[in-house]
Amino acid sequence: MKKRTFVGGIHPPGNKVATVNKKIVAAEPPNNVFIPLIQHIGAPCHALVGVGDTVRVGQKIGDASAFVSAPVHASISGTVRSIVDIPGFGKCVEIENDGKNTLDPSIVHNPNPDSLTLDQLRQAVRNAGIVGMGGAAFPAHVKFNPLKDKPIEFLILNGSECEPYLTADHRVMLEYPDRILAGMKYIMKMLNCSKGYIGIEDNKMDAVEVMVELLLGTEEIQVVPLKAKYPQGSEKHLIYTCTGRVVPSGGLPMDVGVVVSNVSTAVAVADAVEKGMPLIERVVTVSGNGVKRPANYRVKIGTLISSLVEQSGGYNGRVGKIISGGPMMGRTLYSDKVPITKGTSGVLFLPNKEIANELPHSCVRCAKCVDACPMFLEPTTLYKNSDKEKWDTVERNNVLDCIECGSCSYVCPAKIPLTQYIRQAKEIVRSRQKSQAAKEAAAAKG
Ligand code: SF4
Ligand code: SF4
Repeated sequence: MKKRTFVGGIHPPGNKVATVNKKIVAAEPPNNVFIPLIQHIGAPCHALVGVGDTVRVGQKIGDASAFVSAPVHASISGTVRSIVDIPGFGKCVEIENDGKNTLDPSIVHNPNPDSLTLDQLRQAVRNAGIVGMGGAAFPAHVKFNPLKDKPIEFLILNGSECEPYLTADHRVMLEYPDRILAGMKYIMKMLNCSKGYIGIEDNKMDAVEVMVELLLGTEEIQVVPLKAKYPQGSEKHLIYTCTGRVVPSGGLPMDVGVVVSNVSTAVAVADAVEKGMPLIERVVTVSGNGVKRPANYRVKIGTLISSLVEQSGGYNGRVGKIISGGPMMGRTLYSDKVPITKGTSGVLFLPNKEIANELPHSCVRCAKCVDACPMFLEPTTLYKNSDKEKWDTVERNNVLDCIECGSCSYVCPAKIPLTQYIRQAKEIVRSRQKSQAAKEAAAAKG
């Protein structure tokens, strides 16, 4: 099979060996969970329960009336002990586990899922609180409801998992391939598209083989092996490698007739449609040399990261950095007393000695950042103009096309935190655009 790729990008060490062969195991039931009322892009939920209430597994405990939002559900049965603010995670519903695992009566199997209409499918996805599980956490019922003037031709399932260390999606493809396909067919029905691709990097050929075998004789879905290169999992690059289509600057995948979703999201869709089960648990990779026994866990949403560390044998020496997600695009956490959310694909623990502490020095004009940028930007120019606060120039140089992949910072021999500069520049340019639009609207009103 021909392997496809894109221009630019980098080849950081995969560091997946610690968990790639570790089967998914259920994490021990947590004593309590902290379920954030916002785990998605869009409007936060308001709590539907109060302190002292008894809740059951799968019970809806938070919702919002806004279209772009997703409800949240109890992942364990027990008693609501508090509604607390956890810095960086917002208001969280704390539930103390009663150990009974009592299922909410609203969770019922659907004996005939194929009879569901498009709207009923989308409603099932919304009721289940499904969001993109690759990290973006965009509400799935919104993504799977295409605009009338933007018909969707292709669904691409993202099985590339190009971030170092992470193996959760890889294991899901090996262990639940039939659930991925079931979910994919429901998503294709919602999108009214007839062709689907599953993009998988060639460092996961066992997953490619499993999916190809399952799809033998199927024309409508095709597995696309991709050369392992970071950031292959970015939507725009995945679309290019799978279909040859280029999302225009400032555009969205739907502008070229494509929707991209994650393989784990497809499993969640199948569970919601067929079993009526909301998104209350997910597979999480726990890895890095800072933890004794790296593993892939099936984790109840809201479980504290510290509880996973305990199950992994504890810390291995002094941990210098905890990252939610991968090392390239993940978010640094200030503590392990924070919850796993719907978008947490992994948690990494890096020892002090592995953290780059080198101070940045002057640009040596090597252009390595330019070669690495998969969006054909000039990171060095963006950084220099941002530093001088030349926002018009930065905007003209297409700063908003940056996907914040971190490739430029990774290759920079001067250790300049280019991505950090560019991320800040994007925020400033966006806010200038907003205030300009507001001024123009006010002037138009007279
Ligand atoms: S400029 Fe943006 S898109 Fe380009 S390499 Fe840097 S972070 Fe990635
Ligand atoms: S990689 Fe670093 S040193 Fe080289 S041109 Fe870019 S900013 Fe300058």
